[in-house]
Amino acid sequence: MKSIQNNCFHTLNTIQLPDRDAALLPEIDTICRFYSDLWNHNRPGSDVWNINHSCGTYVNVSHETIQLLTLSEQYRTITDGAFNILAATVKHLIQRNKNTSSHEFTQLVEKLSREHILIDGNRVLCPPWGVIDFGSIAKGYVCDRINEFLTAKGVKSAMVNLGGNISALGCRGDGSDWKIGIRDPFSDRKTSLCALKVRNRSVVTSGMYERALSFHGRPVHHIIDPSTGLPCVSDFSSVTVVSESSVDSDAYSTAITVMGRKRAEVFIQKNDIDVFCMTSDRTIFYTDNLHPIFFES
Ligand code: AMP
Ligand code: MG
Repeated sequence: MKSIQNNCFHTLNTIQLPDRDAALLPEIDTICRFYSDLWNHNRPGSDVWNINHSCGTYVNVSHETIQLLTLSEQYRTITDGAFNILAATVKHLIQRNKNTSSHEFTQLVEKLSREHILIDGNRVLCPPWGVIDFGSIAKGYVCDRINEFLTAKGVKSAMVNLGGNISALGCRGDGSDWKIGIRDPFSDRKTSLCALKVRNRSVVTSGMYERALSFHGRPVHHIIDPSTGLPCVSDFSSVTVVSESSVDSDAYSTAITVMGRKRAEVFIQKNDIDVFCMTSDRTIFYTDNLHPIFFES
């Protein structure tokens, strides 16, 4: 296998291809850079930057952005609001250590449930109070685009890892399943709890161990519960979703974390979603189609 690495999407990405397909690696790098630039919320002129600076007016965006916003809206509906691209508004306030009055805060939570992004052709209207980012969904979407590209080129086997958002195309060169490690959410040493055996599947984990934000010196979770407007307090320590579509895995792993176990169990069954989860009391549960291999400790 040959591989390439880059730091797109503010994370480390590794793409591995069989030696005979290695000439395609630079093209995959170009795909990563294209989407990373398009959706970089810190880059003036990017689609996301333009949306976040539109002050309640329509802005023109690329068709890829329309596609991702349309998908985001579908995920918001199907998850009954647990997935909400405008949850980034809260993350934005936390990152600026902004104190909001309780009245302003109640209003924001209400707006999160009532007001949404509007799409009209290639134009987008973001509510004037809103900020978006595609942190919960972009890597999944781009994994799918890379797999589409590779499949069209006749590639039969590949491992795409965009910051832990993993897509395993086909099987390994020797015909065996890919084995994807699932991190133990209770270990500081980033050890694996087990591995999942998969082929042609995307494996995406959202973990409560990723306390990516700091609010007044206190670490808080980077996933926001739109129904409370607060960093999510979940009884899941980690949620891994396995599906054919990486964007589904990415969006659902975030949403299921927000839902918590009781609500998630109904959602998973209704929508036939494969998950491997660990709860905060260290109970593991996974759906029947998955094949975990547990390591000796
Ligand atoms: P992930 O690591 O895929 O679970 O995504 C986490 C990122 O998604 C955060 O860093 C936020 O940018 C964004 N986010 C936070 N809460 C939500 C939510 N409820 N719905 C959609 N995106 C969210
Ligand atoms: Mg996600």
